[in-house]
Amino acid sequence: MDTTDFEGCVGVDIGGQSIKVGMFREEQLRIIDLDTPAEYATARGAILGAVRELAGGTPRGLGVGSPGPLNWRTGVMEWTPNIPWRDVAYTELGSALGCPVRVDNDANVAGLAEAVLGVGRGHHVVSGFTLGTGIGFFTVIGGHVYHGRLDVEGGHQVLNPSPDAPLCGCGAHGCLEAYASASAIEARTGKRPEEIDDPEFWKEIAGYLAWGITNINVLVCPDVVVLAGGMTKRGAVLMDPLRHRVQEMSCVLPPPPVEVAELGARAGVYGAIVLAARGHGE
Ligand SMILES: [Zn+2]
Repeated sequence: MDTTDFEGCVGVDIGGQSIKVGMFREEQLRIIDLDTPAEYATARGAILGAVRELAGGTPRGLGVGSPGPLNWRTGVMEWTPNIPWRDVAYTELGSALGCPVRVDNDANVAGLAEAVLGVGRGHHVVSGFTLGTGIGFFTVIGGHVYHGRLDVEGGHQVLNPSPDAPLCGCGAHGCLEAYASASAIEARTGKRPEEIDDPEFWKEIAGYLAWGITNINVLVCPDVVVLAGGMTKRGAVLMDPLRHRVQEMSCVLPPPPVEVAELGARAGVYGAIVLAARGHGE
């Protein structure tokens, strides 16, 4: 991995349980792990300390990946489901540090990492889903996250508009997220995805995801589709029927390659560093 372009930039990956602060130095990633405190003021002090320690002073730039919803233009997160912080203006960290700060949601930042440094590297248009409690979606074009007017929400594409379809957390019926997210699976089966081995069950979930990928293919036509998140650890029982179904469903356009993310839990901090170095696209 050539990380020369990113040296001197610090990435911060905000999670519900922990915060990772990382920087490349001589092609090695150095990470400081922090617990996520209940108060943002406490987190702010710890983050600033970790950034200064890694950078040896003022970094070249700071990138922050945070759970959303958040406004990537202003860098403000008003609230988020799993952390009790409110009205957090991450860009304010820049005035304390004396460097530019770029902020994006965690799915986009992880996607940026996979597109630039992970399994999507070398491809121009990289789309993907992060499969977790919800389903995040990202598209990276030429090494920059595509946002559109606000931000894209491919996990909430509707697969089934029937009022009988499962109700999604967003209020609509039949979203991809209402069928194939970890929380939807748990609500339906009473089990977490990692506790389910039945190949027939995974074939059904693969079918929903293949539907979502096929829709993305006709709308975005990416060079590669990347799947990230804990569910991909199921391996062949999920990925084999999924790739087969994507082949079957691709009528108008050839199917895109579907790959599993390779950066794992470090994708967030890698992506935040890339965001710091490259900035937002148009
Ligand atoms: Zn929805």
